Order: sequence, then C-alpha cells, then structure tokens
Amino acid sequence: MTNTIGHWIDGAHRASRSGRTAPVYNPATGAQSAELSLADEAEIEEALASAQRGFEVWSRLSMAKRQNVMFAFRELLNARKKELAAIITAEHGKVVSDAMGEILRGQEVVELATGFPHLIKGAFSENASTGIDVYSIKQPLGVVGIISPFNFPAMVPMWFFPVAIAAGNSVILKPSEKDPSAALWLAELWKEAGLPDGVFTVLQGDKLAVDGLLTDPRVQSISFVGSTPIAQYIYETASKHGKRVQALGGAKNHMLVLPDADLDLVADQAVNAGYGAAGERCMAVSVVLAVEPVADELIAKISERIANLRIGNGAGVDGVEPDMGPLITAQHRDKVAGYVDIAEADGAKIVVDGRDFRVDGHEDGFFFGPTLIDDLPTTSRAYQEEIFGPVLQVIRVESFQEGVDLINSGQFGNGTAIFTNDGGAARRFQHEIQVGMIGINVPIPVPVAYHSFGGWKASLFGDAKAYGVHGFDFFTREKAITSRWLDPATHGGINLGFPQND
Ligand code: NAD
Repeated sequence: MTNTIGHWIDGAHRASRSGRTAPVYNPATGAQSAELSLADEAEIEEALASAQRGFEVWSRLSMAKRQNVMFAFRELLNARKKELAAIITAEHGKVVSDAMGEILRGQEVVELATGFPHLIKGAFSENASTGIDVYSIKQPLGVVGIISPFNFPAMVPMWFFPVAIAAGNSVILKPSEKDPSAALWLAELWKEAGLPDGVFTVLQGDKLAVDGLLTDPRVQSISFVGSTPIAQYIYETASKHGKRVQALGGAKNHMLVLPDADLDLVADQAVNAGYGAAGERCMAVSVVLAVEPVADELIAKISERIANLRIGNGAGVDGVEPDMGPLITAQHRDKVAGYVDIAEADGAKIVVDGRDFRVDGHEDGFFFGPTLIDDLPTTSRAYQEEIFGPVLQVIRVESFQEGVDLINSGQFGNGTAIFTNDGGAARRFQHEIQVGMIGINVPIPVPVAYHSFGGWKASLFGDAKAYGVHGFDFFTREKAITSRWLDPATHGGINLGFPQND
C-alpha cells in the first residue's frame, strides 16, 4: 500500500511518532491511498511552540515585506494550481474542473489579501479635543487556529489563512482527516513564496489536536467550518477559553421557484446546484420549493436532465471528465442512503433513486446516484436535517409566503435562492428571508472575496463571517490611542475630574 502523511512544522515535513493513524481513501476506487498520522500531545506542543516563534518574526516584518510574500504566493498558486486540483480529486473525489473551481475561489481571497495594508490601516482624528489627537491601529492577534472540513480541502482554509497571514498572524491549520494532502501542498508553496518558518503550520489530527487548539492559551482565535453539532462545540469550548471564534456549521438550502420563472433555467440550475460535487457543498441546493402549479413540469424537466448526467471517477477516464464523482467515504454514502430510506418510510415518492448506483470498473468506489424526491412531508427528518449528498427534494407550496415561512422555520440559514422574473417579489424575499447569503436567479450565491461569507442561525456561531472586511476585523485587534504633545504655550495643570473634550 501506502504512503504515510504527516505534519508541516517549522517550515518542513515532520513525520509523526504518535503511532495514532487514520486511513485516507481514493473515493472513486474505494482503495486506501495513505495512512494519516494523527497528532499526539507532544506534536501539538511542537506545533504551538513553532507557531509562536513564527509569529514573533512575521509580525515584526514591515507590511511591504509581508506583501511581497503574499504576491509571490499568489503567483505560485496561479501557476501551479493544476497540481493541487489533482490532489483534491484523488482524496475528495470531486471532478477536476470542480477542484479547479474551488482553488480559484480560494485564490480570490489570496488576491484580496495582497491589498491588506489598505484594509488594516486604522484611522486618525486630528485635534479631537484641544491639542489632542486620537487614532486607532490594528495589530495581529498572534497564533490563530483554523479547523477545516473535508468538502473544500483548499478553498475553506483559503477563506481564512491569506487574511490571517497578511495581517501578521501565524496559522495552525488542522485539516480534515479525510483529505489531508492539499494543506501540505499549500504549506510547501508558502515556503517557496518566502514565508518564514512557523508562520504556516499543518497539524494533522482528530479531536485531540482540535481540543489542543481550543484550550491552549497561546491560540488567540479559532476559525472553524464543519457540521453544526461540532461548530457549536467549538464555539462554546473556544469561547470558554477566552478566544475569538467564528464557527460555520451545516446547511439545508432552499430554492424558491415562483410560477413566472423560466422553468428550463430553473431545472438547469437546480441540477447544477443540487448534484455538483455530489451535493457535498454547504451552499448546495437541497430543496426546490415549487410554488404551484409548476411542480409537475419542473420534476419532469429535472428528471430528464438527471438521465443525461455522467457519473464516474472525477479524475476522468481517457481524458473525459464526468459531471459528478463519488461521495467521500462508504460510511457517508450509507448515511445518505439512510436519509432516502427515511423519506420513503415517511411517505415520499422517490422519483429518481440513486441508492443502488454502481459505476462500471469502479465497483468499490463510494458512488451514489443523483436522487430526486417528491411529496416529502416537511415533518420528516429527511427534510429537516442536512443530508450532504446528491439528493434533491421538491416540496410543493401554494404561495410565495408559504415558501418564505417554511424557509424561515428551518434550523439553518446558510444560503437560499429565488427564481422569478418579478423584481418586487425578489426584493421582498431578500428583505424577509432569515438567511445569510441570497441568490436572485443565482443558485449558489457564494459572495466574492471583498464581501464576506457566512450564514445565520445554526449555520454560523459567532459574530464574524469569513473573509472580506469581517475577515480583517476578525484577525486584527484594535487599539485606540489618545495623544497630546504639549504645545510650549499650554499647560494642563491639576484636574482630578474625568477627562472631557473641549
Ligand atoms: P465535521 O464537523 O465532521 O468535521 C469538521 C472538522 O472538525 C474536521 O477537521 C474534523 O476533524 C473536526 N472534528 C470532527 N469531529 C470532532 C469532534 N468531535 N471534536 C473536535 N473536532 C472534530 O464536518 P465534515 O464532515 O468534515 O464537513 C461537512 C460539514 O461541513 C457539513 O455539515 C457542511 O455543511 C459543513 N460545511 C459548512 C460550510 C459553511 O460555510 N457553513 C462550508 C463547508 C462545509
């Protein structure tokens, strides 16, 4: 078999001696491709000490020098991203063009971060009180922790680390155990770009490594992305230990379709957003809310499109790429199938059933076919919970308001979309809907890098979203300075009262 995957500490690969491991698979073949080392206490301590040293060096460098490294990283990433895409596909399973898409969205944040001096430059008020100037400066936090999920092994870390590093922090990234290699590739790139050792650390591990970051006083903040129960645990534990936390959780994203919408556009977009990356996207559409009388026509159009989807090895066969790859693990495939079983038991109609889907030549791969469900009661767990697979549910509603109320009654608030030609309805939707990211005739409204990414309710614990202005605020601490340089002609004298402005 297999190679062993270790950490990146002090600017170099670091083999683990912990003896704790987890298997890494190629989801398209089902074969184990590597053995991942999971950090023990000694390795966590080594990572923390190195990151602390890295911070002392990096935070003292001028912004101009830090900016040079950021530009070099961007150039290297842009030139070599195909290598990274192949690594993502081999461990995650998504098709190569989709892996490239996630890298490009991450690269946008790198590009935003190259302009960081403008975003952390503070403010100055001259003569705020007589002879007194007041100004604010933004300083880095120190060592910051990033804990990422399996579904975007490059993009999600890149939502945070370009901003954190540009602002002068050092980063410890704890990737998902399921696809840990992208992080190491990115670490090598930072080294090549000239980042000092210890500023970017990759700590491979499980709960032990996560808890180490959540509780150690050297770690100043935690940026987490993953499922809602873990996000809540992260938020509570890290807050209790005095850290800043942003913890992004799960999702169940609805697409509201009004009867005046172009149903061919809607069907195309529902298929793209429902089955892209096999539904393993936190911004995937998982529920189509069809305002009657369009549901039957829409189901027919979606079914036609599903029949033409090509499912297979995301790396492509003979140079031809499929539309959709496998799920991440056999356990996850069984969990997704379990939700379809629940829907069926609760009285839903399984219009297209992906449960027994197999790909010729890849019989051991973790494939699950695109699935379409109709007539699912909204009381079913299959409706209320996140499935995170290629399963699209069509729910019939009688009015715009019934659709809005249903979306607002859910536990999540990550993304949503409305499809309509009625500008007034779209405007009302954006105002009334309790969701953080909204698409108007756009199915996956992931904001560009200079806006911020984040949901509401159980989709985000904490106050700060990822990247954009929120990102720079999160990764810096502000100081306000009130200063008086005495004019030779003035003198303060004794005054025990509280300072007042004049
Ligand atoms: P997950 O919650 O299982 O794991 C995320 C991270 O937490 C991993 O690094 C994992 O090692 C760690 N972890 C897992 N269990 C832990 C525990 N008990 N204690 C401490 N750490 C633990 O999530 P996943 O399966 O890797 O990713 C899929 C989930 O992520 C979905 O719910 C998806 O919606 C969500 N997600 C959300 C967003 C968003 O922007 N809101 C983006 C991407 C993914």
